[in-house]
Amino acid sequence: MKYLSTRDDSLSRSFNDILYQGLSRDGGLYLPQSWPKIDLLSLKNKSYEEVACEIIFPYVNENIEKLELQKILNETYANFNHEKIAPLVELENNKFLLELIYGPTYAFKDYALQFLGNLFSTSLEMSPKKITVLGATSGDTGSAAIHSFKSKKDINVFILHPHNKVSPIQQKQMTTVIDKNIFNIAVDGNFDDCQKIVKELFVDDEIQESTSLTAVNSINWARLIAQVVYYFWSYLQTDKHQINFIVPSGNFGNIFSAFVAKQMGLPIGHLHIATNSNDILKSIVDTGEMKKKSVSQTYSPSMDIQVSSNFERQIFESLNRDSKRVNEVFESFSSKGFYQFDDSVLAKFQQIYKASSIDDSQTLETIKYVYEKYNYIADPHTATGLKVLLDKKDDEAWVSLVCAHPAKFDNAVNKAINKEIDIPKELSNLFDKEEKMTILPNSTMDVKNFILEKISNA
Ligand SMILES: *Cc1c(COP(=O)(O)O)cnc(C)c1O
Repeated sequence: MKYLSTRDDSLSRSFNDILYQGLSRDGGLYLPQSWPKIDLLSLKNKSYEEVACEIIFPYVNENIEKLELQKILNETYANFNHEKIAPLVELENNKFLLELIYGPTYAFKDYALQFLGNLFSTSLEMSPKKITVLGATSGDTGSAAIHSFKSKKDINVFILHPHNKVSPIQQKQMTTVIDKNIFNIAVDGNFDDCQKIVKELFVDDEIQESTSLTAVNSINWARLIAQVVYYFWSYLQTDKHQINFIVPSGNFGNIFSAFVAKQMGLPIGHLHIATNSNDILKSIVDTGEMKKKSVSQTYSPSMDIQVSSNFERQIFESLNRDSKRVNEVFESFSSKGFYQFDDSVLAKFQQIYKASSIDDSQTLETIKYVYEKYNYIADPHTATGLKVLLDKKDDEAWVSLVCAHPAKFDNAVNKAINKEIDIPKELSNLFDKEEKMTILPNSTMDVKNFILEKISNA
């Protein structure tokens, strides 16, 4: 399998090239040149790790042996905290939850990032290379990445998070990892600011020359393919002929993985985007209008995003994989802060996607309702999806994703159900631990100098 870029459809890169590069030098995101098809029958009676191997192998076949891949996957999911890894729970007839909270940091990001850490280590074992992992996080990516890469040889990790805009547990999950290859940077700004700095550094020649920069944001292709697995896995746990998913969305990585699953042959009807009040994705899907808006802080901080990086991949797909047109869209969008998709493109978005924006008060009401009716405690991100799920009146099977453990966002959850929830010991212990982080201004130059200084000393 070879890879092209959303901004250059003539590109032809190997998986190993794109694994470490993250963002393409032309500013685009990588996608495979074609979609491999999966025979659903071949997945029957396989374990999560075996299903993962079938799905991921066609994307990495040029660089990794199948046996090697299976070994990496077995290692990756061995320490997950549930025998089914990602269990499907039936809330009521045709309404399901897919629980993705059994990794070391209690959010779905672990399913991909634990894999990425092992993938990097395996490939670095055989080379003299050292890499610098650079990422921006609205909370969960950062902790999942740090827990995946801590103390790994030949890897330094720099994670930017918006200062004081992640939950206290999310912050502690990152900053209490004091291994010397881990650098937490708290930026005085919001998540979009952090993401912008990271994007600028990835096209910065000076930093590219001094180290091999590696993206672990949800723009990283290897992460997306690891997420494709649980969409297939949830289908395998039902007796349905077709299923539909509701995905609480921010950077559009998780739901784009569902789109990939659909391209690979998983019988998906619709994908329903749930957002909080940061609703740019809803505007795009409802009216074709993509417009820069400011970010507001909500109870679901991992979705406090208005520039959803991975949506560029969907634009590329819906523009018939024509990178010239993608370039036009983004040139116009970055100069005017605005782009209007025409009706034919809008119709393509709507063939697949629906979208709802759930505000903070609906989020808390949903947490309360679901607790009282089903005795199920949902975190605020998950609750945006549950609101959509509970409102579904059609006869179709809908699966809504459980994105994080409620204890990670206990302030909002306690408020909603008016009682203190139990916090797993691994999480409450964090508050007794020493923290390590550096606060920097919202400036690409400051972050760049910090990184250059640390890697030259390492
Ligand atoms: C990352 C995250 C999201 C958003 O997922 P995207 O892939 O960015 O769309 C939603 N909920 C939680 C808990 C997350 O960590």
